[in-house]
Amino acid sequence: MKLDVNALRYLSKDDFRVLTAVEMGMRNHEIVPAELVDRIAGLKHGGTYKVLRNLLKNKLVHHDATKYDGYRLTYLGYDFLAIKTLVNREVFASVGRQIGVGKESDIFEVATEDGTVLAMKLHRLGRTSFRAVKSKRDYLAHRRSFNWLYLSRLAALKEFAFMKALGEHGFPVPTAVDCNRHCVIMSLVQGYPLVQVRELQNPDDIFDTILGLVVRLAEHGLIHCDFNEFNIMIDEDEKVTMIDFPQMVSVSHRNAQMFFDRDIECIYKFFNKRFNLLSERFEEQNGSEIDDDENGRPSFLSVQKAAGSLDKKLAASGFTRKEQVEMDKFIHENAEEESSDDDNSTSEQEQESEGGDVVAVKINSLKIADQSEASTCLNGENTLANPSSSNG
Ligand code: ADP
Ligand code: MG
Repeated sequence: MKLDVNALRYLSKDDFRVLTAVEMGMRNHEIVPAELVDRIAGLKHGGTYKVLRNLLKNKLVHHDATKYDGYRLTYLGYDFLAIKTLVNREVFASVGRQIGVGKESDIFEVATEDGTVLAMKLHRLGRTSFRAVKSKRDYLAHRRSFNWLYLSRLAALKEFAFMKALGEHGFPVPTAVDCNRHCVIMSLVQGYPLVQVRELQNPDDIFDTILGLVVRLAEHGLIHCDFNEFNIMIDEDEKVTMIDFPQMVSVSHRNAQMFFDRDIECIYKFFNKRFNLLSERFEEQNGSEIDDDENGRPSFLSVQKAAGSLDKKLAASGFTRKEQVEMDKFIHENAEEESSDDDNSTSEQEQESEGGDVVAVKINSLKIADQSEASTCLNGENTLANPSSSNG
């Protein structure tokens, strides 16, 4: 999806006011009738209608007349509201190039006023799910479209809370900086996803470190659930950083063992394929003092015994039990649907290559903002009456 931040510069105070009104209307309307937008925005002389046309032209809202006439936010509109809020909070001042396209997210560089570069992850739940399940009408029938924005907001909230807690417990994760709507701001990892790494000085050490992370997570009561070569970053000094946390679950989840084993399996499979480690490792680890199962792999049952309570603390913080349940249901139901066709590491790979062309266009079309220029444009005079009022 194209994120032309230049458009932000041309949006007026009224544009943001109406965009915010659409967002507020969406709390209890899938499609918000124009009259309701008008009432919330409170612009004089029918100004709302003119502004709506402008927002529509810029693809910040979508017009829908299937059931009744109205508008809803697009992801782009939601992006702008989040970016605007974070810029007003002085979390960053400019948006730069796109550095990643995940399964259900877009990642951009952003820069603070003093030039520090951070990473901005915009969650886009529904993007691949639509594709994966588009033929399964029943599955989508009860999912209303505005839920994607809502679920993306939950995913961001969860990711932020987990990143923060994991960092505080000494896990190698990006530093969690801030979060608004579906957007998470974190430190930029200076490295590459493991999937892009062809050679390692010490593949054995990296393998141990990575496997150790899965075990240590479980000892803290958590399972990553998408622990693979796409979500492990390696820098020049072969330092490991793990990313991507919206799908994490507690070791007390009913499918915990399966998720744990799958994470371990992904690492074994990848290291075997790419670095030819597996057979040697099997022999070495057999019968060692490590609490492993008969294949020499860490076993869920042994780490579960030692499980701490970070999962419970996290469940209690940030978002409600109901939200947690909704998220888990969505993410893991979806994963189950998808995994009936393929295993989780290849599916992500396919999705990346599938979107390859689009990505190239996106990166080229997003001008890297000259920082001084962009900071002026994003710090312009457009301020929302109450930017975070609709942020729950
Ligand atoms: P998704 O949930 O959509 O898979 P990820 O969090 O895995 O999204 O991010 C997708 C890609 O973006 C990663 O594979 C990585 O290349 C890049 N990326 C994500 N976070 C960072 C970061 N903090 N620093 C640098 N690159 C990042
Ligand atoms: Mg990922």
